[in-house]
Amino acid sequence: MNVRDSEVICGLLKNSGYKICGDEKQADVIILNTCSVRQHAEDRVWSQIGSFKKAGNKRLIIGVVGCMAKNYAEKIFERAPDVDFVVGPQDIHKIPEILSKISKDNLFERKVWEVDGSIRPNEIYHNSFYQEKEHAYLVISEGCSNFCSYCVVPFVRGRLRHRELKNIVKEAEDAVAGGLTRITLLGQNVNAYKDGDVNFTKLLQRLDKIAGLKQLTFFTSHPKDTHPDFFKAIRDSEKLLKSLHLPLQSGSDRILKAMNRGYSAKEYLALIDSYRKIVKGALLTSDIIVGFPGESEDDFKQTYDLVKKAEFNAAYIFKYSPRPHTEALKMADDVEKADKEKRHAKLLELQRGISNKKNAK
Ligand code: SF4
Repeated sequence: MNVRDSEVICGLLKNSGYKICGDEKQADVIILNTCSVRQHAEDRVWSQIGSFKKAGNKRLIIGVVGCMAKNYAEKIFERAPDVDFVVGPQDIHKIPEILSKISKDNLFERKVWEVDGSIRPNEIYHNSFYQEKEHAYLVISEGCSNFCSYCVVPFVRGRLRHRELKNIVKEAEDAVAGGLTRITLLGQNVNAYKDGDVNFTKLLQRLDKIAGLKQLTFFTSHPKDTHPDFFKAIRDSEKLLKSLHLPLQSGSDRILKAMNRGYSAKEYLALIDSYRKIVKGALLTSDIIVGFPGESEDDFKQTYDLVKKAEFNAAYIFKYSPRPHTEALKMADDVEKADKEKRHAKLLELQRGISNKKNAK
């Protein structure tokens, strides 16, 4: 999602007369598009801002945009005085105007922040800027209303909003007309997509018909909105990659409930079983969090056993870190750091073995 947002920002700036340069030392403007999903991602941004010291280039403009901007707003200026502007994810269309204002008025001592927007104009997506030559990311929905208890996304990206079918189709057709042949659809929960009577399956079927498009894929899916009928659509499509990213997060029902995930371990297993039966030879990947508040050794063992059974082709395994605004922040972060590390390493080792075995096949 952030890669696509960065492309959108580059497109907006190019259309306003800026050039994208490959070397930050040559740049007049540096914009950091940030992620707040884990503490680690934020720590990296703080240290990176520090490396863009303005000493060498007094006119350098530094902007922080995206989820950290929404999270910290004007407080960013206190911690990073070199930053000139801060723009939240729903306000990125204002960046060219902000830059022009800052440069024209020469207000380098003045700080600008825009973080309260709720809607992005659809036009920002039609700027035909793509980093890759053959592949396009295409946003179908923004935000999320699921409120998993550990997740900051609904607070920084807002509630779920679906883009209109006609705008998605136009963007896809324009991308293909411009020579791109592969498209990845993006949303925090693509399977919840809806525009009138068009659901995600119908959207895929519509995009599947675009002549010249060779490959279609999507992420992320939420198990509670993913149904066997949808697997048949994957099976029957010529262009859809036979691949599904279906975050598990935990194999313990107690923890899944505390995470507000809306499914049980048994339901998850039944779902992937049906997926593999319907889409033969398909790939399956997942996300897992270890060390969520209250996770006991037994809860972890249930996750470990489920990962063993599920045999994911790959899985992203994270150590829990408390995020602002979330329900989980109110719970005690009571799994010792050493235990988080141990569980993380153990699960990683298990998954590595499974991945190697599957890849060798
Ligand atoms: S589904 Fe849950 S984890 Fe995913 S973005 Fe929404 S709230 Fe966050």
